[in-house]
Amino acid sequence: MSTPLEELAQIASTCTKCRLSAGRTQVVFADGSPDADLMFIGEGPGYHEDIQGLPFVGAAGQLLNRLLGEIGLRREDVRITNVVLCRPPGNRDPLPDEIESCKPYLMQQIELVDPRVICTLGNFATRVILDRPVAISRVRGQLHPWNGRVVIPTYHPAAVLRGGGDQSRTMAGIREDFATISESLAAAAAAGGVPVAEEQMGLF
Ligand code: URA
Repeated sequence: MSTPLEELAQIASTCTKCRLSAGRTQVVFADGSPDADLMFIGEGPGYHEDIQGLPFVGAAGQLLNRLLGEIGLRREDVRITNVVLCRPPGNRDPLPDEIESCKPYLMQQIELVDPRVICTLGNFATRVILDRPVAISRVRGQLHPWNGRVVIPTYHPAAVLRGGGDQSRTMAGIREDFATISESLAAAAAAGGVPVAEEQMGLF
């Protein structure tokens, strides 16, 4: 018998709610643990993701794997998904109606995986989750209480690949934010897996 998460992935796999379905090789639902404490949300599948059917398997994914390793985690320990589940043509930005069409899959996946901590990668994911037109450079690394969870936005790994590599300020920022993620996970574990109270997160 399949789990509710597997059923959701099955339903998504034949989705035709928006125009992105016409150009995809396959729907890229997610990768990683079905009950992870930490979920990453990116923008949308690229060329390699569309071919392989898995999120973050290209160059940005290699960097994400490395950043995970630096805080002692593997891909299998976390959940990885995107704001849109089908590749936008030519890797263009997803359009507002495409994001809206895909949002129920994202929200249901969050409910079913039930992570304590969500890391949004870049502007798109951060704006969709926080539901505000924020700039990633202003909100990154902060702990945002969200539906009994904590959201920690950071730069998209592709921003490091585009802008200066390992020695860049963007990379230093992501590393800082991954350290914050690691601390938040530890705080959630110490609290017995219950949502981390805002006081514990040092917000007040
Ligand atoms: N960039 C994303 O935002 N998502 C992927 O899955 C790959 C690259």
